[in-house]
Amino acid sequence: MATQQFTANVLRTGARNARKAPRAASRMTVRAAQTDLTLPIDLRGECPFRPPVVVPRPMRRPSPTRISPRIDARSMRRRLQSLATRRRRIGARPGRRQISTLRPQNDATDRYRSSDLSFPRSSSSTGKKAFVAGVADDQGFGWAISKCLAQAGCEVILGTWVPALNIFETSLRRGKFDESRKLSDGSLMEFAKVYPMDAVFDTYDDVPEEIRTNKRYAGNEKWTVAECAEQVEKDFGKIDILVHSLANGPEVAKPLLETSRNGYLAALSASSYSKVSMLQRFGPIMNKGGAAISLTYLASERIIPGYGGGMSSAKAALESDTQVLAYEAGRKWGIRVNTISAGPLGSRAAKAIGFIDDMINYSLTNAPLAEKPLSAMEIGQTAAFLCSPLASGITGSCIYVDNGLHAMGLATDAKSLERSD
Ligand code: NAD
Repeated sequence: MATQQFTANVLRTGARNARKAPRAASRMTVRAAQTDLTLPIDLRGECPFRPPVVVPRPMRRPSPTRISPRIDARSMRRRLQSLATRRRRIGARPGRRQISTLRPQNDATDRYRSSDLSFPRSSSSTGKKAFVAGVADDQGFGWAISKCLAQAGCEVILGTWVPALNIFETSLRRGKFDESRKLSDGSLMEFAKVYPMDAVFDTYDDVPEEIRTNKRYAGNEKWTVAECAEQVEKDFGKIDILVHSLANGPEVAKPLLETSRNGYLAALSASSYSKVSMLQRFGPIMNKGGAAISLTYLASERIIPGYGGGMSSAKAALESDTQVLAYEAGRKWGIRVNTISAGPLGSRAAKAIGFIDDMINYSLTNAPLAEKPLSAMEIGQTAAFLCSPLASGITGSCIYVDNGLHAMGLATDAKSLERSD
């Protein structure tokens, strides 16, 4: 809990004002030597970014009087029998773990809806200002990141895609997201303002006539990236955190070999160049020491059949740009730029691709951390860390938050690994 409070405090006010951590340092205590963080980080306590983990006791030599109930032969037999019955019932192949496709929102969303947040609530009155682009419901990474930033004391400003804005604001007003808005102290996450935005257009001169007159854009104005940044500056002054949590590939369901030039370029425009454009326009209104993050996917560097339409190329560009932008924005404005390579989540955008349940199942079966599906909040917490002064030395990095799936070189449930003997 001490470490959690510390993390929240440094995100809110900067390291200098963070409250003092426990003095008692032990063998497991790491001192932040040669940095201005003089507070010790106690590695014995609860990890601030994960639910508590039960640490197993050291192994003892089994004796007739000390057989753990976990490895008791009779209970093991019973467990195996019930597992076999369950497998027969759902028709699963041995060795393959399944999650119910009837509940595509899986455990990740259940936990995500709960108010059990790892960061303690901090007052937002002196908090940093974050602009989060790519929130149009409570199911995706943008929402989870906003929630973790709000939990840590940030003032959260949203940029929502124009065609999705109306329904999002209506749902918000009618309380549809109230359960998901709950912070750890029971209060509801508030958005300082929701701006209309379309990250595909830099200035109004770029907007073609059919979009200007499109009824999904009617009633909104100043929604290009440049105009949006101007409005944010006018209303809030400088910001500290810039989040790019958006992507769009109109031909994502098509293999690359069948992708049109227009489809490919549209994927890059919405999913990669949008990040460059945002940093160009928001960089000048960011405070020194600020941080920008985006969301990428493993398909940028490994083949994920089904993630087509140039989306894999768009994510590769996003990751490469993260490095170049880290250099340029770091030198120009003192801003850090990182990206998070997230594991699969059943968000609205992911469902549109059509195979997200398979990806979640695959990860659940094959990732090193196979006890649970990935939670959006785990990405949110990593984002909050990356945007905090705790990550002041991290820039140009791609951080994997995917239960470790990226590290695997073998699908553990591959048919070819099955033995007949
Ligand atoms: P999501 O549907 O919650 O978020 C995507 C958002 O992008 C939506 O709010 C949509 O309105 C917005 N958007 C689309 N085009 C836009 C435009 N032109 N201008 C402004 N906003 C626009 O889905 P998500 O899965 O949370 O996606 C967030 C990010 O996470 C994306 O970059 C996505 O590629 C990435 N990601 C997702 C997964 C996954 O499995 N869901 C895995 C890795 C990375």
